[in-house]
Amino acid sequence: MPEKQGEQPLGIFGGTFDPVHFGHLRLAEEAADHLQLAAVRWIPAGQPLLRAAPQVSARHRLAMVHLATAGNPGFEVDAAEVDAAQASYTVLTLERLRQANQLGKRRPLVLLLGADAFAALPNWHRWQSLLELVHIGVAHRSGFPIDVGKLPETLTACYRERLCTQPTALHESAAGRIATFAMTPLGISATQIRTLLASGSSPRYLLPDEVIAYIRKHNLYPEY
Ligand code: ATP
Ligand code: MG
Repeated sequence: MPEKQGEQPLGIFGGTFDPVHFGHLRLAEEAADHLQLAAVRWIPAGQPLLRAAPQVSARHRLAMVHLATAGNPGFEVDAAEVDAAQASYTVLTLERLRQANQLGKRRPLVLLLGADAFAALPNWHRWQSLLELVHIGVAHRSGFPIDVGKLPETLTACYRERLCTQPTALHESAAGRIATFAMTPLGISATQIRTLLASGSSPRYLLPDEVIAYIRKHNLYPEY
């Protein structure tokens, strides 16, 4: 194996995870593999600002992420956003992570996003500041091709300027580059799972059994 340059980056994976499913788990696993990440830190959103309130509380979403990731030593779970008193923007979470008593400024960090989340990046608070704090790793997602011609104009310029073809480029600096990676296409979404549960259909094999058992125990997505 060729000697690696720089320090292995830490992946940062945010989401509402309402509920967490195999699309998320494969994204994190394949990102770790393709981008040679030391670990992936999952950060469930507390109260997301950009979308409708999640159907279940932050506590339950966090518990499900704990259950789903428990068997993987390369996965960490960070409850900072769930514990925060108010809704948090990703940029503020990353600024906190960059503080000296946390991860510091030098460690390469890679914010992991599915292609749909990447295309919506210009809606994020201070989105251009994100790349001063992290690299971005974009996973292909079924139904959301990364079509440069269709991205918002400001994002296209940023994408062209910062895209690197070799994922190891993410190891050479702390932040500022964009890499894409192909993951096993899995047309799973939390929306689909909520719809299945609401109609009394089985979500089995779309998410871990432990998570399904937790959902059932707490009746999180009741039938109506
Ligand atoms: P919802 O349907 O409620 O939006 P979701 O399945 O999209 O849920 P999120 O919590 O919104 O899940 O997504 C967290 C991150 O995971 C986002 O960056 C999203 O693009 C990515 N992601 C979710 N599902 C997949 C999938 N099947 N393939 C690739 N990326 C995914
Ligand atoms: Mg989503």
